[in-house]
Amino acid sequence: MDYFSYRESAGGRQLFAEDVALSELAERFGTPCYVYSSAALVGRFDAFSRAVGDALLCYSVKANDNLAVIRCLGGAGAGADIVSGGELRRALAAGIAPAKIVFAGVGKTGDEMDDALDAGIARFNVESEDELQLLASLAAARGVRAPVALRVNPDIDAKTHDKISTGRAQDKFGIEFDRAGALYARGAGLDGIAMDGLAIHIGSQLTSLKPFADAFGRLGELCRNLRQNGQTVSQLDLGGGLGISYAGETPLDLHQYGALVQRTGRELEAALTLEPGRWMAGPAGLLLARVIRVKQNGNKQFVIVDMAMNDLLRPALYGAWHDIQAVMPRPGGAAPVDIVGPVCESGDVIAAERGMPELRAGDLIAVRDAGAYGAVMSSSYNSRPPAAEAMVHGTDAALIRPRLDYDTLLARDSVPDWLTGSH
Ligand SMILES: *Cc1c(COP(=O)(O)O)cnc(C)c1O
Repeated sequence: MDYFSYRESAGGRQLFAEDVALSELAERFGTPCYVYSSAALVGRFDAFSRAVGDALLCYSVKANDNLAVIRCLGGAGAGADIVSGGELRRALAAGIAPAKIVFAGVGKTGDEMDDALDAGIARFNVESEDELQLLASLAAARGVRAPVALRVNPDIDAKTHDKISTGRAQDKFGIEFDRAGALYARGAGLDGIAMDGLAIHIGSQLTSLKPFADAFGRLGELCRNLRQNGQTVSQLDLGGGLGISYAGETPLDLHQYGALVQRTGRELEAALTLEPGRWMAGPAGLLLARVIRVKQNGNKQFVIVDMAMNDLLRPALYGAWHDIQAVMPRPGGAAPVDIVGPVCESGDVIAAERGMPELRAGDLIAVRDAGAYGAVMSSSYNSRPPAAEAMVHGTDAALIRPRLDYDTLLARDSVPDWLTGSH
């Protein structure tokens, strides 16, 4: 079901988010503004949950860390997959039970581990021997055992964008497959560590099942070896990575993925954790922006909008394609235009040579599938306050993160005495 659809309204046919007209949201909250549908978030969580059966679903907070988004998914039953102390704070603040929080990442610091031990999270997915030792000593010092899964690098090419492939031997993530067995045994012998499983995460925006099947197969191999050597492996964390359809490409079939996950859990007789991020949040959000002006350069038409690469980095960073819709499409045919932001970088192009109905200054556009890896990657480059964020729920809408004002933006800086001449 599409939670963003065109409907007839008093002002004519226009795009809605659930039961709220986007033009109304633009009036209330200004532009640029991310708009998330809470029904879409919950609907996607439920569909995923049904497809994978009995598994702990830890929403990957880095996809969209807004407290309202985490709380919405938490209310539907989600736990949290975190990669930093800041995400731990957010997950806890959003009411996620510590018993449903798993902590991944190659650079966990001692302070972050301490915070997570204090909170009593479900599991640390450990990515190096050094990290294992540090965690062991911190946990032992407080007389507890930290629950640990080893994140292994299965050396599988996820066949996705180079920058979001994480499971190849050359990537920084996980423990070398061939060393994992020895390290597992080490961990099991350490005071302060309770080894209870294995974890993988091979990349993001995967659009075929094969890399998942290969990686789960490798994990199974390791799991059986460990058990043959007398180790206990009760938890398998199969990561996230399920892709979505940005450009109308065939997304990975959720039910085939779910069947593979369930078969893996059955065959290996282990409790499962999954860490979907993009799949949950991506299609549940869009970025609403307004056309500032239209400019003709030679035979190229540039539609300059009030959102930019500082609000949504994916097109500039990955060459990512997002569907763009006119909120109130003008009649007439489509013509190719470049939709660009105001940032002083030639790479600040949201869409190149995109067929769009006529757009004029003041018109609204919606950049679709921007709910994941959108707002979280925003910055204030060019001293542009990042876009606001809003959530809709039926006919209700609320601002869930305001756009910073200039005073707040400037108040974060301070000028030392020797520059102001006041010492
Ligand atoms: C980013 C990340 C995820 C989520 O990936 P998606 O592609 O958004 O599903 C899951 N697990 C770990 C360890 C991650 O770093």
